[in-house]
Amino acid sequence: MPKRLIYDLDFEALGAALAELGEPAFRTQQLWEGLYTRFYNDFAQFSNTPKNLRDSLSAEFIINPLHVQKTLLSQDGLTEKVLFTLPDNLSIETVLMRYERRNSLCISTQVGCPMGCVFCATGQMGFIRSLTSGEILAQVLHFMRKLQAESQNLTNIVYMGMGEPFLNYDATMDSVRRLMDPRGLNFGARRITISTVGIIPKIEQFTKENLQVNLAVSLHSADNSLRSQLVPANRMFPLSKLIPACKAYTEQTHRRISFEYALIDGVNDSREAALALAGLLKGMLCHVNLIALNPSKKYPLQGSPKAKVHAFSATLEEHGIPVTIRLRRGVEIQAGCGQLASSEITA
Ligand code: SAH
Ligand code: SF4
Repeated sequence: MPKRLIYDLDFEALGAALAELGEPAFRTQQLWEGLYTRFYNDFAQFSNTPKNLRDSLSAEFIINPLHVQKTLLSQDGLTEKVLFTLPDNLSIETVLMRYERRNSLCISTQVGCPMGCVFCATGQMGFIRSLTSGEILAQVLHFMRKLQAESQNLTNIVYMGMGEPFLNYDATMDSVRRLMDPRGLNFGARRITISTVGIIPKIEQFTKENLQVNLAVSLHSADNSLRSQLVPANRMFPLSKLIPACKAYTEQTHRRISFEYALIDGVNDSREAALALAGLLKGMLCHVNLIALNPSKKYPLQGSPKAKVHAFSATLEEHGIPVTIRLRRGVEIQAGCGQLASSEITA
C-alpha cells in the first residue's frame, strides 16, 4: 500500500491510526503538537515518543511531501517564490510576500486549473490534478518553519495560488479547518482568504459554513459578455446569478466580500466600465481590489498604466465603493497574481 501523507489526517483519523498501532489516546495530541506547533518534518524529531512508534509511523506515512526544486527571490528581497515537487513529481508554486508588519503566503490548491481564464498562466497550462488537504497544508508548514527560524510569524494566508479552490472544495475546507484547529496551528480565520472565480454552488455552500474566513471573488468585468470572454466560467455562472449569490453571502454572514479586478489596458479599464462596476456592486457590503494585469506568456495584452488604474479607482470611490489598489509584487520572478505556472516544467 502506498504511504499516506500524515497531514491528510484530521485529529480523529490520526487518533484512529494510532489506536490501530496499539497506542494510548494521549499520543494523538502529542503527535498533533509535533506536527502543528513544532512543525517537525521528520519522524525522528518526535523524541517524546517510543522509537518503535516512530518506526511504524515512518513505515506508514509520509511527513515531508514537498521537495524544494527552486527558490526565486525578487530584487527587493520581499517576495519569494518556491517551486515544489510533489511525491508524484508534479510541481506547484507557493509565494511568500513580506510587508512591514505582515508576512502573507499565497498557496496553491491544484496543479494547473481547468477554468481557462485567458490572462492567467495557471489557466493557460490546463488542469492536471487537485491537491490533497495535506499537500495544501504542507506549503504553509514549510514557510512557518522558515519564518520561525527567523523569529518571524506568518500573519496571512491567501488561497490565490495555482488552481480554483472551490473546484477542490473538500480538501480546501479540510485544510482551512486544520489551520484553525486550536489544538494545533490555531491560525485565525480572519487572517485567511479564499479566492474563487465564482463557482456559485460552492459560494452557497461556503456561506453555510459560517466561518470568519474571508471570501474574494474574481470579477474583472461588470459586463456579462466581456466577462465570459475573459473568464469562461462566466458562461456557466453568469453575473446575473453570481452577484445575487455574493449578496446572499454578505447578508447571511454579515461579512464583507472582496472583488478582484485585474485592469487590462483598453479592455476593462474605461470610465464606463468603472461606472458599470459601481452600479453592479451598489449597496453591497464589499470591497474592490484593483491590480494592473500581470503579463503571462500566452496573453498579448498589457496591464493598464498607473494613471488609468488611479482614474478607475477614483470613479469607484466617487460612487461610494470601497477600493484598494494592490501593488504588483514579484512580477520579475513570475510570482505575481496569475503568473504561477510551474514554468520549469511547462516551458
Ligand atoms: N482561481 C482563483 C484563485 C487563484 S487566481 C481565482 O481565480 O480567484 C488569484 C487571482 O489572480 C484571481 O483574482 C485571478 O483572477 C488573478 N489573476 C489571474 N491572472 C492574472 C494576471 N495575469 N494578472 C493579475 N491578476 C491575475
Ligand atoms: Fe484558474 Fe483562477 Fe487562473 Fe482563472 S484566474 S484560470 S480560476 S487560477
